[in-house]
Amino acid sequence: MRTLTSYLLGAWQTAAGEPSATLVNPATEEALAAVDRARDLAKATAYGREVGGPALRRLTFRQRGELLAAMSKTIFAAREELLDLAMASGGCTRGDAKFDVDGATGVLAAYAALAETLGESPWIIEDEAASLVRTSKVRVQHVSLPRHGLAVHINAFNFPAWGMIGKAAVSILAGMPVLSKPATSTCLLAHRIAEILIDAAILPEGAFQLLVGPVGDLLDHLGPQDVIAFTGSATTGARIRGHAGVLANNVRVNIEADSLNAVVLGPDLEQGSELFDLAIRDAVTEMTQKTGQKCTATRRILVPEGLLETVREVLCERLADVAARTGDPAVKGVKMGPLATAQQLADAREGIGRLQADATIVRGDPERADFVEVPAGKGFFLEPILLEASAEAALRPGAAFHQLEVFGPVATLLPYDGSIDQAAAIIRAGEGSLVSTVYSDDRAFTTAAIAELAPHLGRLVINDEKNAAGAFSPGCVFPQGNHGGPGRAGCGAELGGSHGLSLYMQRTAIQGGASQLARLLGRGAAS
Ligand code: NAP
Repeated sequence: MRTLTSYLLGAWQTAAGEPSATLVNPATEEALAAVDRARDLAKATAYGREVGGPALRRLTFRQRGELLAAMSKTIFAAREELLDLAMASGGCTRGDAKFDVDGATGVLAAYAALAETLGESPWIIEDEAASLVRTSKVRVQHVSLPRHGLAVHINAFNFPAWGMIGKAAVSILAGMPVLSKPATSTCLLAHRIAEILIDAAILPEGAFQLLVGPVGDLLDHLGPQDVIAFTGSATTGARIRGHAGVLANNVRVNIEADSLNAVVLGPDLEQGSELFDLAIRDAVTEMTQKTGQKCTATRRILVPEGLLETVREVLCERLADVAARTGDPAVKGVKMGPLATAQQLADAREGIGRLQADATIVRGDPERADFVEVPAGKGFFLEPILLEASAEAALRPGAAFHQLEVFGPVATLLPYDGSIDQAAAIIRAGEGSLVSTVYSDDRAFTTAAIAELAPHLGRLVINDEKNAAGAFSPGCVFPQGNHGGPGRAGCGAELGGSHGLSLYMQRTAIQGGASQLARLLGRGAAS
């Protein structure tokens, strides 16, 4: 069996010693590859900083954008192979696989387009020069420059393509070299993408390194110009944030962690409307796409009490259809595949048990063992599980569904009285989320939703009858919009068009005489 190795110091490392893990197809449990463990992380971090950093900083934004465009085309050319690999190694249906792989090429293309607007400059002039004192010619102007460190990307298992490439696109455009560490359980796809990109020799030497297997002593070698962009569980995020070296060196850290995303069916929503159908369709998609292993998946569904019975009935019917078509994603007609690992299945089942302290299962059997074209006892399958809480429990901040993210096809129906006050109280109980969605044509309700909900979210989606036909499912993260959220979601921010660059850049106030600033920095300095 092949052993996947790291790409460090400009070369694929030779595998040595015992592998750190064996990767399996989560539908069949067939072994796919072994994973090495890396050494020399002190040298690799220094190499990224000293070789990759200067090489990227010598390029302008437009030139770095050309690298991204070439990466996008190269990955796209291998699309079919990558989709097959995502299906075999991640338990993805073809649709799930596209979501990940096309998401990766999409982010690259979006940031390549953004680069054109930033042009031939090596830095970003953030604003007009400001006068310090009315009578003085001294001005201050904010400039963002690439940090002189290494961007360390630690990714979660659920998006091996989009996670790795989305972070890399923004770092490279900003001018920072990357050391990317995919989650071990699904690193086969990330490793193959890295191989394709390295074979294509698009990036300057040192601009991209890949670390497979455990993180080892990586964090011990990071310094004050480095950045860690982490996506994963809150527990690992806290460990990284609290790492002694990271704290001592004030390494910049961005955390994308757990999230109890909610949808709010507005008080005016009526069965039969296009908006009602959209809300149901989105709820099913957000529970079952990638088998619910999406950080943006819907976990809490707020329904006005008068509509609860109808919503429960329709959702159960739709979810039963997905449940009947859950199985090996290699088989035609299968709508939902397995969870990624045996551990994910065990965690999800345990989590459902904990949710049942405050809610009741209204659809699905967490112990179901027979799935489409799957030999008995094989694979890490879980059918869609819908729970429901009482109106009284929904308002209890300590209830399990407000505290625990079950990373699978699992959500809870929460009745509320149709007021924005109750909806906001319920959403706030999640203590900070990546995204929430409102389905309503009631202008007063949606206006209040912005004021009351948005500060607790990284993204707020507002759907009304007029845009229902063209709306995107809320879990779909576009590179133009902010991705991240306060509180439990990790308090991080990624993507968001040009905002995403700020994670990898240092904003410095340049202060000097008006004409000198104008000469040195150009636009706006002498105003
Ligand atoms: P995880 O177990 O926390 O692992 C995430 C990454 O951290 C993996 O690459 C893992 O490597 C690495 N890691 C483990 N221990 C580490 C340590 N001590 N120091 C540094 N890195 C370490 O999370 P996961 O199970 O892969 O992902 C599921 C979670 O991610 C869910 O909670 C989900 O909500 C969250 N998530 C959040 C977002 C978001 O954008 N907010 C997106 C996707 C997923 P190994 O795999 O080698 O252990």
